[in-house]
Amino acid sequence: MRYGSIINGQERDEDHRDTLDVINPYNQEKVAELALANSTDLEDAVNNSFDTFHSTMKKLPAHQRADILRRAADLLEEKEKDFAETIVKEAGKPIKYSRDEIKRSIQVIRFASELAKNITGEVLPMDAAIGGENRMGLVKRIPLGVIGAITPFNFPLNLSLHKIAPAIAAGNTIVFKPAEKTPVSAYMLVKLFQEAGLPNGVLNLVLGTGEKVGEPLVTHEKVHKISFTGSLPVGRKIRESAGFKKVTLELGSNSPNILFEDANIKSAVTGLVKGAFAFSGQVCISAQRIFVHKNIYEQFLEEFIKLTKALKIGDPKDEETDIGPMINEEAAKRAKLWIDDAVEKGAKIETGGERSGTILTPTIMTNVDRNMKIIAEEVFAPVVSVIPFDCEDEAIEFANDSIYGLQAGVFTRDIDRAMRVADQLEMGGVWINEISTYRQDNHPYGGVKQSGIGKEGIKYAIEDMTEMKFIGIKLNP
Ligand code: NAD
Repeated sequence: MRYGSIINGQERDEDHRDTLDVINPYNQEKVAELALANSTDLEDAVNNSFDTFHSTMKKLPAHQRADILRRAADLLEEKEKDFAETIVKEAGKPIKYSRDEIKRSIQVIRFASELAKNITGEVLPMDAAIGGENRMGLVKRIPLGVIGAITPFNFPLNLSLHKIAPAIAAGNTIVFKPAEKTPVSAYMLVKLFQEAGLPNGVLNLVLGTGEKVGEPLVTHEKVHKISFTGSLPVGRKIRESAGFKKVTLELGSNSPNILFEDANIKSAVTGLVKGAFAFSGQVCISAQRIFVHKNIYEQFLEEFIKLTKALKIGDPKDEETDIGPMINEEAAKRAKLWIDDAVEKGAKIETGGERSGTILTPTIMTNVDRNMKIIAEEVFAPVVSVIPFDCEDEAIEFANDSIYGLQAGVFTRDIDRAMRVADQLEMGGVWINEISTYRQDNHPYGGVKQSGIGKEGIKYAIEDMTEMKFIGIKLNP
């Protein structure tokens, strides 16, 4: 029940520490107590990660890094049930989605294990330059050093692994600061890596708030890169204070999905109900704006409302539950205020819009306009708007009218149109005949505009967590 930070393999959970309770968002029961890290712990964690990088990690060969990762994936597979139940309790995520998250997490570690053995460089044709005869040029990829990994509550395991697994594969050490709302799965993950044989100090865990331990981690001179997933305001702050470090920012969005009149409506509706409401819309690529061609608008809306009303709201630990709580009451109240604000400005609630404690019923809005918060900002709640359109250009213009650009979905049977629209959407990724909310862990993932900087997806994270080193040789002919 009581968890502390883990630095150089030692847990820091002494009685004198300040504490923070982890609360189950569904029933408000106490899940755990955190013994919080302070600035001395953060300093120790970074120094230890820095020293471990030089003393241990630089010497750990790729085959051993790959073996450790493979063992970690096997262990996670064995402990799937424990991890899934923990995420249900700490995040309120329905059990079926929690299980999906663990399954994806196992794959993420396996991708990293495979790629650890394939971080390659190149040999340059040095004689391409005048005077370059009898020279050899090698480009190697080398690890950066210490990676500061800061993660959000909504995919507490998988998004942490999107940083930790490629960092280990590439030969870095990590100071891991998980979301304070969901730290138990993070603690279990660090223990799991210990069991898998990861040397002490390669993965240090600091449990604390963004202000107390996140900020000093971002500004610390011995940290070489910050890999952050979370909200835009925090991301902006990190970008400003990170100094010379490399920074990857995976931020929010108000993802668009566009249905043309030749779309397969049935499959789009089924996908979009999940895409808008899975984990109560607390997903960075949740379907927030659905643009529907006017000729199929009525039919789409009717079927969309019908399937949404059939969603089962309840206890996240029940197998049948589709919709559980939001992360806390404050988040649910904020989303409800945004709905009310839109209604005042003329929007219509087609279904949902009711709040009880942390639960907000799945909400479909129509008659919206682009200045409403539920359209212009990231709603991050079970609230989706359906908007009719006349022509392709209109849909593209509205979809692009956003400070965000993470992922979009386009539904059409016309391949020429699909490719044309995909090219014009200002997004990090576009899915054709698939919802914006779908993500595989091996494709490049990350936003444009204010949705972020850099890419994840194991191969691409490894690129961002290594740097090129050139070695030239002058040969005597
Ligand atoms: P958040 O920004 O509130 O917190 C994320 C992490 O940052 C937490 O660990 C928090 O303690 C830490 N933090 C807070 N202030 C900090 C500071 N000043 N310095 C350093 N660290 C600080 O986000 P959240 O509420 O946990 O997660 C929701 C947000 O995350 C949404 O905006 C969502 O879109 C985004 N998100 C993005 C992706 C993506 O891949 N693009 C994925 C999931 C979530």
